[in-house]
Amino acid sequence: MGLFSRNKPKIKVQAARKEGFSGWLKCSGCHELIHDRDLAANLCCCPKCNHHYRLPAIERIKSLTDPDSFVPLYESVVSTDVLNFVDTESYRSRLEAARAKSSSNEGVSCGVARLNGLPIALGVLDFDFMGGSMGSVVGERVTRLIEQSAAERLPLIIVSASGGARMQESIFSLMQMAKTSAALARLDDAGVPYISVLTNPTSGGVTASFASLGDIIIAEPKALICFAGPRVIEQTIQAKLPPEAQHSEFLVEHGLIDCIVPRGQLRQSLIQFISLLSPQANKSGPDDAGGEVFPELSSSLEEFLSHAKERHGSKMRTGS
Ligand SMILES: [Zn+2]
Repeated sequence: MGLFSRNKPKIKVQAARKEGFSGWLKCSGCHELIHDRDLAANLCCCPKCNHHYRLPAIERIKSLTDPDSFVPLYESVVSTDVLNFVDTESYRSRLEAARAKSSSNEGVSCGVARLNGLPIALGVLDFDFMGGSMGSVVGERVTRLIEQSAAERLPLIIVSASGGARMQESIFSLMQMAKTSAALARLDDAGVPYISVLTNPTSGGVTASFASLGDIIIAEPKALICFAGPRVIEQTIQAKLPPEAQHSEFLVEHGLIDCIVPRGQLRQSLIQFISLLSPQANKSGPDDAGGEVFPELSSSLEEFLSHAKERHGSKMRTGS
């Protein structure tokens, strides 16, 4: 058989998951052929070059918390369209479409969980829900989580992925920046640690509020982290930005973030950081054998966790 009459490969390679998706993708990091199944098994990181793809909120929660330990909170706080806002589409129908597309009913999932046995408060923004944008409900859920964290003295972790403020809510969305920041100031006064994890992309009002206020700010590799995006800046200053600007590696060099942690090591790093920031936390658990955690707090926390389970049912969000 001649070279040019050879049958073409039958694998349909795609750049994204579209209708009739074959399962094969061309990695945007290394341009190698990878299968969706291998990607999913590797926390949505390329098994060949470790390029970090977006990880859905529910998968993120599973990857960080102890099995079946996550108890969702504030799920009944949902967005309404107080301004009756319509652009090319009404805000109401955008919300309905987002709920159908995402596994969450809002742009953030909040709850309490255990991380290597340690009770924590965890918030994960969901980019699949209207770009993880912060409207009044995202701000309210995050604020409640911060307040819960302060009241129960639970170390707080928030994983951000956001396009910024939700423009359909106008000033109501912008107010959330001040609200979440004020709550974090009170958390700081209470001496409870807060770790902010920035993933690709984190921008706008989220970067300008709670995402940048962590006691420790961690970013995933090559994540876009900015206030205004590169295109907006280039249009404003009429100059091209260097390609590495506004990415994790550039920001860690310039002191905006503390460290870059690959996704596969994130859980272990969070365990270590929380142990460092909470001297009362006994550095122990399934990943670091032996001992009881938070001995002086454990009874009230156990009570709180059992109440949370009662209120929200025994079915865990990350359960089977
Ligand atoms: Zn790759």
